[in-house]
Amino acid sequence: MAAASQIWVHGELAPDGSLAKISTEVATLARTLGEASGADVVGVVIAADPTNAAEELARFVPKVLAVTEPATADHAAGTIVGQRLASIVEREKPGYLFAGAGPEGRDLAGVVSALAGWGVLVNAVGVTWDGGPVVTMSVFGGKLTTTSRLTTAHGIVTVRPNAIAAEPAAAAGTVEPTTVDGELSLPSVRVVDRVEAAGAAAPIEEARIIVAGGRGIGGPDGFKVVEELAAALGGAVGATRAAVDSGWIPYAQQIGQTGKIVKPALYLALGISGAIQHKVGMQTAGTIVAVNRDPDAPIAEFADVVVIGDLFEIAPALLAALRARAG
Ligand SMILES: Cc1cc2nc3c(=O)[nH]c(=O)nc-3n(C[C@H](O)[C@H](O)[C@H](O)COP(=O)(O)OP(=O)(O)OC[C@H]3O[C@@H](n4cnc5c(N)ncnc54)[C@H](O)[C@@H]3O)c2cc1C
Repeated sequence: MAAASQIWVHGELAPDGSLAKISTEVATLARTLGEASGADVVGVVIAADPTNAAEELARFVPKVLAVTEPATADHAAGTIVGQRLASIVEREKPGYLFAGAGPEGRDLAGVVSALAGWGVLVNAVGVTWDGGPVVTMSVFGGKLTTTSRLTTAHGIVTVRPNAIAAEPAAAAGTVEPTTVDGELSLPSVRVVDRVEAAGAAAPIEEARIIVAGGRGIGGPDGFKVVEELAAALGGAVGATRAAVDSGWIPYAQQIGQTGKIVKPALYLALGISGAIQHKVGMQTAGTIVAVNRDPDAPIAEFADVVVIGDLFEIAPALLAALRARAG
């Protein structure tokens, strides 16, 4: 397989117009692969106002193309950005395109794949280089780990949030304003309103400490102690799908296969059994502490510390100790 001439990184915007955290992670990964392969690494930001995000992305990669695309101001970005990316990809012919495996990255990967005829490897948890990207993916809810590569010298890789630790480059790169012409021919979704999700005040994807509650919490009132512990530790509140499906806490807090993937330094699990679908969302936490009254709960197999007992005794005692220590 020929060496890639260029590895491109899609720079996604956060709601405030800054660069999304996932893009700092993907850019760090792409830079590492560029060093391993000798390929040039180029960022691409396509937005109504790409300036801030492009400058932030240039802290991670040597060169960033900034494309002004007014349509993203009031339309969902994925399809629009995907069409523009497909045009530049066909014009400039880079080797590979890397994007975050969030809603926007998934949308644009599909569009670029369909329009440019490129293959896609999705949900990478790690990528190495051997003549092209060698992509590790977690599939079937974490039951299997697969290693795949593309059969052509170009393609798209989407990378899971929190799989890579973001690190800026030693020197900042340059930003080049770039134009892409042509019709936007695919149907797109017009955004009529933006509403902050419940629970968005404490984004769990970025929290260093997460206190999570499961079915063992027993009901919405039980989450009070979870919230108090999270506040005392300066962390965020997480939950299992069982707790979310019961309506005890908003979906935004769900961790796992069909929720969010998190990587905090400390994960305190209260009344959580540790089902595989939950485990895949939190297994890379630095230290996992589980409180469970069942010593045979699956979480005991992968937690660093297991406290066997009733969470309604242990959690308030822990809270009291933390408050006493804080004075
Ligand atoms: C396709 C699919 C996708 C899924 N996606 C997700 C996902 O994204 N996230 C997710 O979390 N789940 C997901 N699930 C559900 C998952 O399989 C489990 O059902 C769920 O994680 C269980 O949640 P839980 O640990 O809160 O509940 P349970 O498995 O019921 O465990 C409750 C635990 O609390 C303990 N307990 C009870 N009372 C106390 C007490 N007083 N003190 C101490 N411990 C106590 C019990 O011993 C038990 O271990 C998915 C399932 C499917 C099929």
